[in-house]
Amino acid sequence: MKKQIAILGSTGSIGTQALDVIGQHPDRYEVYCLTANNRYEQLAQQARQFKPAAVVIANEQHYDTLKNLLADEPDIKVYAGRQALEDIVQAAPIDMVLTAMVGFAGLGPTVKAIQAKKQICLANKETLVVAGELICQLAAEHHAPILPVDSEHSAIFQSIVGEGDNEIEKILLTCSGGPFRLMDDERLKSVTAADALKHPTWDMGAKITIDSASLMNKGFEVIEAKWLFGVPVEKIQVLIHPQSIVHSAVQFHDGSVKAQLGVPDMRLPIQYALSFPQRLSLNSERLDLFKAQKLEFFRPDLQKFRCLALAFEAIKQGGNMPCIVNAANEIVNRAFLEDRCSFPQMADIIAQTMQRATFSASPDYDIYVQTDAEARRIAAELLNKTIVL
Ligand code: NAD
Ligand code: MG
Repeated sequence: MKKQIAILGSTGSIGTQALDVIGQHPDRYEVYCLTANNRYEQLAQQARQFKPAAVVIANEQHYDTLKNLLADEPDIKVYAGRQALEDIVQAAPIDMVLTAMVGFAGLGPTVKAIQAKKQICLANKETLVVAGELICQLAAEHHAPILPVDSEHSAIFQSIVGEGDNEIEKILLTCSGGPFRLMDDERLKSVTAADALKHPTWDMGAKITIDSASLMNKGFEVIEAKWLFGVPVEKIQVLIHPQSIVHSAVQFHDGSVKAQLGVPDMRLPIQYALSFPQRLSLNSERLDLFKAQKLEFFRPDLQKFRCLALAFEAIKQGGNMPCIVNAANEIVNRAFLEDRCSFPQMADIIAQTMQRATFSASPDYDIYVQTDAEARRIAAELLNKTIVL
């Protein structure tokens, strides 16, 4: 039986690479549903190629155009709106849901998919940042496995396969350091989105590329690792590794360190999440360690990259604080992308939002939704008062 897959965010960087993987294994996988936010033309073209049972365009304004584009494909149902995303993931034939959409918007559909007992292939890390505790509780309650797609978490997962209950002493979470790694504070004041979008080793969507430049992405990944692997934050160490070859490692309590290495190519972790516990062949570049020559590791500079420090602070405080940080970050990330906010101002605004937003020590789903809205409003207000340097 072929596995039926729903891809949330199929027109993005992860979504298109997932379709490439699925296209390499048509005997195993079938696309049940494809979704996008705005890119209806690309979605229609993907639908023609992969013949899913349904497509969903989250922005309802594009419904009519999309429906017209697929008028000669009567077997593909066309839906629109956020509710449709939450409904479609529950469809009975779906085996796996790949969450490859960006931001807080991934939370609702992921919750519904877990409640419908689907296997989650999780790329949308914001879901675990915002509501890790709730997601883990639901996943346990509904016996829904969550498999990591993020390359570092896939590396950690690949390193612990077969280890049973063996105790993890430390997780070594690697980080390229981003394009601003070697810049001083003065230079950081004038960097632009265009500079940030030139990531040295990975080719990704705009939001995560900017998060990678500020190291907020790594802060989010620490939170993601805490929830996925049940390891306290004190046991998660961030290492700057500019070559992006060691994708992360796990140290066990006998001192042994197991790592996963490879060229930077998201198709491998995407495929592993779909095929686990099996490994399938993948038509991709192979790692040549003679070419790589050196592997370097440095400590991150938390003074320079304050977003990483703020993420650590958020996990320490717990409750809805990571949700507050995520919401404020979504606002400043977009503002930086549109040149409405400088690089150092991103951390300033997030820090101030953390102080002003209402704290809740044990939030439920509704509190997360309220927190997200409140923190976005506060961060947007702070942004309006800020003069771009
Ligand atoms: P992207 O911007 O390239 O694509 C995002 C996709 O989600 C698009 O299909 C878009 O239409 C859809 N989308 C965006 N906002 C939406 C909304 N509000 N409602 C519904 N759909 C929406 O992003 P990406 O780089 O592919 O990243 C996707 C997720 O995977 C993010 O959470 C990111 O952190 C995570 N991730 C990405 C990479 C990578 O290499 N790109 C690596 C690790 C983790
Ligand atoms: Mg990553």
